Amino acid sequence: NKISKNILITGGAGFIGSHVVRLFVNKYPEYTIYNLDKLTYAGNLENLKDIDQAPNYRFVKGDITDADFLQKLFALHNFQGVIHLAAESHVDRSISNPMEFVMTNVVGTVNLLNAAKTAWKDSFSGRRFYHVSTDEVYGSLDHGGFFTESTPYDPQSPYSASKASSDHFVRAYYNTYKLPVVVSNCSNNYGPNHFPEKLIPLCINNIKNSKPLPVYGKGENVRDWLYVVDHARAIDTVFHQGVIGETYNIGGFNEWKNIDVVRLLCRVMDKKLGRAAGTSEQLITFVTDRAGHDLRYAIDSHKIMNELGWKPSLQFEEGIEKTVDWYLSNEEWLAHVTSGDYQKYYEGMYK
Ligand code: NAD
Repeated sequence: NKISKNILITGGAGFIGSHVVRLFVNKYPEYTIYNLDKLTYAGNLENLKDIDQAPNYRFVKGDITDADFLQKLFALHNFQGVIHLAAESHVDRSISNPMEFVMTNVVGTVNLLNAAKTAWKDSFSGRRFYHVSTDEVYGSLDHGGFFTESTPYDPQSPYSASKASSDHFVRAYYNTYKLPVVVSNCSNNYGPNHFPEKLIPLCINNIKNSKPLPVYGKGENVRDWLYVVDHARAIDTVFHQGVIGETYNIGGFNEWKNIDVVRLLCRVMDKKLGRAAGTSEQLITFVTDRAGHDLRYAIDSHKIMNELGWKPSLQFEEGIEKTVDWYLSNEEWLAHVTSGDYQKYYEGMYK
């Protein structure tokens, strides 16, 4: 039951979106993949240079906060499916500028829902609106347990509050208008093309340049990590097989304390760079904890595993090694994204 023809992927120039676009362009030559992206600091067409000449790929530069633009785009292309990833995604930035998160993550999502609802008004048959979200909407697991699909929402940061709000709007469009939606909430992703403001690529870049490795608090916060390509595979599975109106949690049953992730990166990098064991660990620098920092996230992903047959393909150590190798062999990518604005941002954060 493949959904044919035009598929709109939003945020396809970003970290996860670029892996989803690549997978769909390569795996489904019968689809035309439209990548709609505003190209903010986090959007980078270099992420897609291996597929941007593919005959079934189109790039559209645009902003999801622009409702008129979206209505016109939907009127033009008869999208069968939407996979919505465009978002402001960095918690620290949401703390300094929450309104940008409200605009893109909440208003942008409602604009997209409206555009789909209008364009698909004659029939919802064969259409699908897939909203990609995060496990951070569930809050923090301070006393054990796992997030399931029925865990009540309890977002703590402006980022997770904006994503929680967007999830509620997507469900409301299903409940109120019967718009055919599906939602997934995924744990922390890592892998190639990750913008180096996030923990893993930031550490790789800093270890390479022998710069301090900032770790919040004592590094006790626990995150559940999933290799980005496995998330893209899960998105493919949910898009094609997920039941309309349902939510699927996606995670790797792979919990790590931040400090242990940083130590693992130090060990792998020492080996790769031919440095003496223990060299990079000396760069670890504990910094004042992030305000409202959630202690632990852990996803129960039994539903997608049992009902849709998805499972992660990589162990964490294997994924970390692949990720480090990618950053070490893509110096040009790293140089481009760490020049200019990144430098200013970085100096502001960790002064
Ligand atoms: P990212 O920041 O790397 O990419 C976001 C993309 O959206 C960028 O290409 C950016 O240019 C684009 N964008 C931002 N504002 C836009 C706008 N107004 N109009 C059009 N495009 C716009 O983010 P990511 O880490 O790839 O996350 C993608 C999605 O997955 C987000 O919705 C995020 O909430 C969700 N998610 C991320 C993670 C994670 O660990 N990174 C985990 C679970 C869910």
